Amino acid sequence: MTRNTVRSSARRNPLRVWLDMALWKQIFIALGLGLVLGIALNQTGNADIAASVKPVGDLFIRGIKMLIVPLIFITLVAGVASLQDLKTMGRLGVKTFVLYLATTAIAISIGLALAVLFKPGVGIDIGTAEAVQPKDAPSIADTILGLVPTNPVEAFATANVLQIIVFAMLLGIAIVMAGEVAKPIKTFFDAAAEVMYKLTSIIIAFAPYGVFALMVWVAGTYGMDVLAPLAGVIGLVYLACILHALIVYGAMIKFLARLNPVRFFQGTIEPALVAFTSTSSSGTLPVTMMSAEHNLGVSRRVSSFVLPLGATINMDGTALYQGICVVFIAQAYGVDLTTSQYATIVLTSTLASIGTAGVPGAGLIMLSLVLTSVGLPLEGIAIIAGIDRILDMVRTGLNVVGDSAVTCVVARSEGELDQTLFDTPHVLKAGETSPDAGPASDPDRSVSDRPLS
Ligand code: ASP
Repeated sequence: MTRNTVRSSARRNPLRVWLDMALWKQIFIALGLGLVLGIALNQTGNADIAASVKPVGDLFIRGIKMLIVPLIFITLVAGVASLQDLKTMGRLGVKTFVLYLATTAIAISIGLALAVLFKPGVGIDIGTAEAVQPKDAPSIADTILGLVPTNPVEAFATANVLQIIVFAMLLGIAIVMAGEVAKPIKTFFDAAAEVMYKLTSIIIAFAPYGVFALMVWVAGTYGMDVLAPLAGVIGLVYLACILHALIVYGAMIKFLARLNPVRFFQGTIEPALVAFTSTSSSGTLPVTMMSAEHNLGVSRRVSSFVLPLGATINMDGTALYQGICVVFIAQAYGVDLTTSQYATIVLTSTLASIGTAGVPGAGLIMLSLVLTSVGLPLEGIAIIAGIDRILDMVRTGLNVVGDSAVTCVVARSEGELDQTLFDTPHVLKAGETSPDAGPASDPDRSVSDRPLS
């Protein structure tokens, strides 16, 4: 056999083809296969078999959750400690907040407009819904106090992301201020960040199998009889999320970051698909960080700050879903909302989405807050609850794509985005993180010649 024949027969080996495939293609195929198999199991009355594969998906989710606390902490300390001066951080923070808030408010407005236009709740039988306890909104003082951990170890143990962010940033600032003497600590965090990224790549290699199992479970356990009566609201939430991504993020990438939107959407496919199946934006965070660095060329300095914050406070999909659901419930109960009630919904949904944890189903609980703000019956939540997982999938997908879009815009404006890496069609393979992945992997190297000032 000549060397060429050997090579081409190796190429035809399906296992080799699968292993050599880019990660996003593997995840995509896994999702499609899971969907088909799940529907087949459901239609043949084998929903219990579909449910039995869920632990495989849960195993993957546990793996990525395991990374969250050390990954955020270590990469953020390393990122902040690599800043030359603290003014940069203030500027980064302001840009990030403004963009997160603006995109969220736009998302709710799109949700409200589409719900008013398509009237998904008109003619819905609300039946006898169960009473739901309203969720109390925390006071502003409590929210601010809650940002500062009284005990960092407790913040780690309870995975309180905002408290970890605050502690990591202060620690990073202290390392900068301590100067020369803190060099060993800075070197330690840089090295630890490398190790965390490597660990992340190991876990992410299992993404296709986790995604497959979760998809079989969802498609296999949700029958058409559950989904059909509410197909209108499901379709609308999916449509609104897709429109928001294409129009708002597309425009941000094109006009604010002056980058190619098609490449952006290609570059965020892995986190979008993992978020879609896991319904947890916090859980997806390690994948989002990995893809921002490898596919979108964002420097670690920016991604380690903007993405964890986004996974905690930026939930465009959740806000949009809350907008649609409130109008849907009002329509189902035959309540006409006034203009000032719409304004209240925009405000409370923005705040509620900020307060929503990036975990499965959290948006549904926060919906009670928005309903209370406009005096709608909380029982309406029970109608949504039956199909919430299906809505959670798409809104979580949008949540993480939104985080990535803002990260790209902020990184670009700071000269912290490697355009060559962004423009190169990405081929991130399972288990792959090359140590020389380019400037993005080194927080000390700015991707442009522009000094950080
Ligand atoms: N599951 C969503 C997320 O993790 C939150 C929500 O329920 O809306 O982003």
